[in-house]
Amino acid sequence: MKNYYDVTVIGGGPAGIAAAAEAARNHASVLVIEREARLGGILKQCIHDGFGLVRFKEKLSGPEYAERFIDLLNETDADITVLTFVTKIVKTSGGYRITMVSRDGVASVVSKTIILATGCRERTAKQVFIHGTRPAGVFTAGTAQNFTNLLGQLPCRKCVILGSGDIGLIMARRLTLEGAQVIGVYEAKSTPSGLTRNIHQCLHDYNIPLYLSKTVTRVFGEDRLTAVEISSVDKSMKPVKGTEEIIECDGLILSVGLIPENELAETLGVKIDPKTKGPVCDQSLMTSADGIFSCGNALHVNDLVDYVSESGETAGKAAAEFNASARECIDAETNSNISYIVPQKIDLKGDLSKVVFYFRSRDILKNCKLSITLDGGVVKEKKYMFLRPPEMERIVLDFSKYNLHKNSRLIFNAEGEKI
Ligand SMILES: Cc1cc2nc3c(=O)[nH]c(=O)nc-3n(C[C@H](O)[C@H](O)[C@H](O)COP(=O)(O)OP(=O)(O)OC[C@H]3O[C@@H](n4cnc5c(N)ncnc54)[C@H](O)[C@@H]3O)c2cc1C
Repeated sequence: MKNYYDVTVIGGGPAGIAAAAEAARNHASVLVIEREARLGGILKQCIHDGFGLVRFKEKLSGPEYAERFIDLLNETDADITVLTFVTKIVKTSGGYRITMVSRDGVASVVSKTIILATGCRERTAKQVFIHGTRPAGVFTAGTAQNFTNLLGQLPCRKCVILGSGDIGLIMARRLTLEGAQVIGVYEAKSTPSGLTRNIHQCLHDYNIPLYLSKTVTRVFGEDRLTAVEISSVDKSMKPVKGTEEIIECDGLILSVGLIPENELAETLGVKIDPKTKGPVCDQSLMTSADGIFSCGNALHVNDLVDYVSESGETAGKAAAEFNASARECIDAETNSNISYIVPQKIDLKGDLSKVVFYFRSRDILKNCKLSITLDGGVVKEKKYMFLRPPEMERIVLDFSKYNLHKNSRLIFNAEGEKI
């Protein structure tokens, strides 16, 4: 490890690997810091297929997808340090001083730029207010996936899955294939949270029931979980008294959402978008702090890893080319049918020729039209049969032919039938 790098990437998941390889290809000196023993991030434990359909037009498993990018990274001169955890970043006159802890002790390097590719973490029982004791047998879906796929240990024999997020759906199928009984997936919302393809491939194909507008309100058991209480919920997601039913099980798998991991960003005073829980960025994925970039699930929760890699490459290239200069940004505004958009800002002094936006709708919209206006004029329109909140949308715009100025208004409007 050197004392100084042009680009330091924190996190060696798919976003960090792609960012590091791209920065190195653009002639930057690069360091990748990963807290686990191997690169690959969450993909290491995702042994099912379906990764890389957009990028490679192939159905790869998580490890296979990660391996393709690790091979590209290994062709570069980037330095990689694993089993190393970044604990602190401080801005100094010579760059950002990064403090890290490994088995060798505490070390630090200085870096001109930093790419935060720290992924996201799962919400837990504490965050969804389940009453009762705290027996063994309550797992987040990611932990259950880790036990089953990496450690070869079945976490339970008869389970209930709370939440219909993709990881929960994938674990419903995985546990069934391993011989466990999955009683059902219970979702508090009135529509599923996961991708439609996962509802079909992971639940319908295995006769696993999906119960909507239901939640777990209590767990039972001393040392080990023995049962859960399920209740119906009303429109405001409050449990309805008198609807309780007790289901015997030894496992409760929580798939109740992911939260971008941004403690390091927050210590740097990076502005966080309350909608995405990730940093507010411009089109180069630079945050509100000059020289600090964000990508992958740390930026916003992605549904497809292909877009995670794409955002890594955008951040990697921009970090390699970074030269401190004042930015002049306008906001990407949305109407109320869009729950969030990334990037949230356009730097008028940056590259305007290919700006990639990712967004999600707030509700399910049928026969929908997205129209993007700049200073009142339509710059792009796109029709969608459906816009669904679990499915992230991507749209690319070329602003180089428009006269953007600091008072310009860029607005994304989605209109359709709410169902
Ligand atoms: C539990 C879980 C299971 C998932 N399963 C699926 C699935 O089955 N199918 C699917 O399509 N998608 C799945 N996803 C989505 C998947 O996370 C993304 O597609 C992709 O892995 C995100 O890439 P990333 O690089 O942004 O984050 P990650 O893959 O999460 O990588 C982040 C990396 O940063 C490292 N890190 C974090 N903080 C630090 C620090 N301070 N210092 C050093 N290193 C640090 C972590 O160890 C990790 O390796 C899952 C996500 C989660 C959280």
